[in-house]
Amino acid sequence: MMRQYELVDRVRKYNPNADEDLLNRAYVYAMKAHGAQLRASGDPYFTHPLEVAAILTELHLDDATIVAAVLHDTIEDTDSTREDIDRLFGKEIGALVDGLTKLKKLDLVSKKAEQAENFRKLLLAIADDVRVLLVKLADRLHNMRTLNFVPVAKRERIAQETLDIYAPLAGRMGMQHMRDELENLSFRTLMPEPHAMIEARLGDLRSRNVKLIATIEQELVEALSKRGIDATVKGREKAPYSIFRKIEHKSIAVEQLSDIYGFRVIVDTVEDCYRSIGVIHTKWQTVPGRFKDYISTPKQNDYRSIHTTVVGPGRQRVELQIRTREMHEIAEYGIAAHSLYKDGFGAGSGAAMGESRSYDWLRRTVELLAEGDSPEEFLEHTKLELFHDQVFCFTPKGRLIALPRGATPIDFAYAIHTGLGNGAVGCKINGRIAPLLSELQNGDEVEVVSARGQSPPAAWESLVVTGKARAAIRRATREAVRMQYAGLGRQIIARAFEKVGKTFSEDMLKGALPRLARQSVDDVLAAVGRGEMFSGDVVRAVHPEIKVDRKPASPGAAGKAEGGWFGIKRAASLVFKVPGADEAGDSNAIPIRGFGGDLPVRFAPDGGAVPGDRIVGILTPGEGITIYPIQSPALTAFEDQTERWLDVRWDIDEENRDFFPARVVVGCLNEPGALGTIATVIGDLGANIEHVEFSTHSPDLRDIKIDLRVHDLAHLTGIISQLKSKSVVSRVERVYV
Ligand code: MN
Repeated sequence: MMRQYELVDRVRKYNPNADEDLLNRAYVYAMKAHGAQLRASGDPYFTHPLEVAAILTELHLDDATIVAAVLHDTIEDTDSTREDIDRLFGKEIGALVDGLTKLKKLDLVSKKAEQAENFRKLLLAIADDVRVLLVKLADRLHNMRTLNFVPVAKRERIAQETLDIYAPLAGRMGMQHMRDELENLSFRTLMPEPHAMIEARLGDLRSRNVKLIATIEQELVEALSKRGIDATVKGREKAPYSIFRKIEHKSIAVEQLSDIYGFRVIVDTVEDCYRSIGVIHTKWQTVPGRFKDYISTPKQNDYRSIHTTVVGPGRQRVELQIRTREMHEIAEYGIAAHSLYKDGFGAGSGAAMGESRSYDWLRRTVELLAEGDSPEEFLEHTKLELFHDQVFCFTPKGRLIALPRGATPIDFAYAIHTGLGNGAVGCKINGRIAPLLSELQNGDEVEVVSARGQSPPAAWESLVVTGKARAAIRRATREAVRMQYAGLGRQIIARAFEKVGKTFSEDMLKGALPRLARQSVDDVLAAVGRGEMFSGDVVRAVHPEIKVDRKPASPGAAGKAEGGWFGIKRAASLVFKVPGADEAGDSNAIPIRGFGGDLPVRFAPDGGAVPGDRIVGILTPGEGITIYPIQSPALTAFEDQTERWLDVRWDIDEENRDFFPARVVVGCLNEPGALGTIATVIGDLGANIEHVEFSTHSPDLRDIKIDLRVHDLAHLTGIISQLKSKSVVSRVERVYV
């Protein structure tokens, strides 16, 4: 295990101003926190964070990053808390360790290959400090190096994930070295045989070409030095995994040296780069189409070099990369390398170095990584807006769902399945019950609870953010309204059949569709429900032999005739017998829930009706049902349109009591305070006054017409009797209009 002083030494080698005390405290703290924990290899767990820190010292990272690496597993795996880290090591390090803890939670989620791109975006979105990603990559690298201690099944999963997610991420950050090693470790685990085959072939070619490689290196150095260019030339074997991909991709055999070797020409200045390419192209023949100038046009991940391929010594194709030393560092170590140059570590200006300020530009680099639109880059799908405007959430099974920022669990549900959205009744976010309209955050695990036969409230349409959810809600709402009309139509038709002594079934309608000029049974039902078609027409279409009178059998005008099935009974007030309703009652009647119910219902414009009143529905084409109290004189207007009369009954939800309209006229003394008394009674009893009108009959008395909203008949009756008990009140009457 790395000793305390070794860690400090490693850091001091590149940063003489390193905070030794901080490093020492982190070392001791993490060692104590991990205590007796062991790794799969049997080593003390603490060796792992130390090795991760060691990898980062190779990248010459700042104190905060090294300390965060040492502490990176403490919050997740030990008793330590974010508060502890903040208090002991400061908020900057606290934030880094916290970021790593969040990323670690994502490790528990299964990631499918097709989600890898989204997952990388998620990583970038969660890690708002690029140093968090650097530690994460080092963490993964060490885990990959020690993977052979892990059970086989788990090993493959981790290797696949590394190949799908972390290696491309390293590449995107310009860290070619890290990428190569991650890829090769994954490759060896996932495909041991191809890996061994390529290794063997490489060994073979290597031993056969030792001399050739040395010759090429030497000839290049000499040719350049003749023109006064001081260059280092190094042949470099390509990584087994990239060779494998080449073989697989192009179905070619590894034959030529250029298939496995690349040469790097490293010079001092940019000018030398261009002079070198001149020398090389003069001396050797170029291979067409292989020249690329990434110095004048750097790659998105800041990679800069000139690439070319020439036919070199021994007629061998030679691939060349020409670059400065700085470009080389950046090519190998990516954004981690920038600190060497931009922050001037080596120049001894280290005092300001540990500051997160010096990483601001690194953060911008990450944004650039995401922003890039150069099509040849890895970044083609990763536009900035995708990234900052998106949240990434998981299903309980680990499927990753990308949504626009501001999305709700309702959007999430519709993104999975329209049925799930339509049926959504509740949700859990990260295991806790949460409102369906919560705003989702990156990394949330969302479980939607759904119920059959639900339809989404129309109001959701304006609350969701995805077009898919909005369209589905609109469709479902339209369908629900249609179903309401169809349900209403079915009841109306069934009653019309009953009236002529027939039983009704929807099947009967199928044969009659042409006669009714409708496409489907549902169309007929909805048309009747909407009042666009009369039930009598439906009866005639099914049973042409039956004569249905569209006129009432005994059209008694209200108050004039008695008896008949559409007659009048006199009780305390005028009562209509509703056509088709049986004496006993209500079983067949259409249930009315009030405004919020399932039917297109409204109440008579004046006076209205309240639960407890006997009521009648009048069907108005295109509008639905208007509810009148059975005493309402307005009903006389419909007495010869029996088709429009519906038997309805109250079906009130006692839990959620609505208000319903009613009108009373109060006769009272014409004196100050009378209205106040009346208003107080009404208010105290929990009713609302909607409208008040005065009419004066004499100097002493006046009538006040009051439109009220009350819960039900008992409520209204209570109000009326309270009003009557007041000395200023002479009479109270309910008015039906
Ligand atoms: Mn770890």
